[in-house]
Amino acid sequence: MPKKLKKCKDCKTYTLKDICKKCESQTTNAHYKFVRIRDVQKSK
Ligand SMILES: [Zn+2]
Repeated sequence: MPKKLKKCKDCKTYTLKDICKKCESQTTNAHYKFVRIRDVQKSK
């Protein structure tokens, strides 16, 4: 994966750079984390 999508916490803008263009804040890696329904049901 050559391109790592990142996201700015402040303005919620997705970017490929470490620094947000809009607010110049440091961006974080945008991992696609989804809550698994199986785990939720399993905890019942
Ligand atoms: Zn920003």
